[in-house]
Amino acid sequence: MYTKSLLWTFVTGIFALTTAAPLVRRAPATVHTKCTAPGTFALTFDDGPFNQTWSLIKTLNQENIKATFFINGNNYANIEQDSVSTPDGDKTYLDHLRFMHQSGHLIGSHTYEHKVLTGLSETEIQRQMNTLSDIVYKTVNARPKYMRPPTGAYDDTVLATLGNLGYEVANWDIDPKDYESYDLQSKQAIFDSYLNQETNNPPTSAHISLMHDVHPQTVPELVPWVIKQVRAKGYKFATVAECLNDSNPYH
Ligand SMILES: [Zn+2]
Repeated sequence: MYTKSLLWTFVTGIFALTTAAPLVRRAPATVHTKCTAPGTFALTFDDGPFNQTWSLIKTLNQENIKATFFINGNNYANIEQDSVSTPDGDKTYLDHLRFMHQSGHLIGSHTYEHKVLTGLSETEIQRQMNTLSDIVYKTVNARPKYMRPPTGAYDDTVLATLGNLGYEVANWDIDPKDYESYDLQSKQAIFDSYLNQETNNPPTSAHISLMHDVHPQTVPELVPWVIKQVRAKGYKFATVAECLNDSNPYH
């Protein structure tokens, strides 16, 4: 009897060990597509930093706007190796990360290499996230908590893996499609179709817009116009974390 109960203790002990692992896994990542704080507007910029990002940060700073950058580590630029000429002289892309962070903009992750995450193994998704997180941490001593999957695409494996790593997904509700063409008027029309739905000033709605600081027209032409229009409607600019009432935007 003694042996049998000892064996049973051993068996249940093993069972507890083998079932413990899934229980400590975190919930799938939450997906946000809009700001929740009424009257807030989050400008977000994907795929950089690249050759106009420094100018964009300066413009935002002059306008006293905090924005969110979903950055890559190795996409348009290899941010650990490359540098670029800016209005303030030659800067490395790690200088860009420091400039963003010191200016109060939020650094989010857009993965290391801009690989679409759906269909990738959990290990590869982890590599895409952790490689970029390590670079950001080495540079500004903080790890991104917010991420945007390339093309916005996710599935159950992506959300489970991101959730285990502690990320929240921040997609968007306004997409002017600045990656499709250089036709400024069509981009403005898309923004206006959302902004004109709001009849209150200050507004009760809240938005996350998607733009790309890597496209030639976006920084010099579209961004100044968007800032003016959004301000005229009475929105307050905020980072993605601020507009979701999250006061802990990093890990
Ligand atoms: Zn992208």
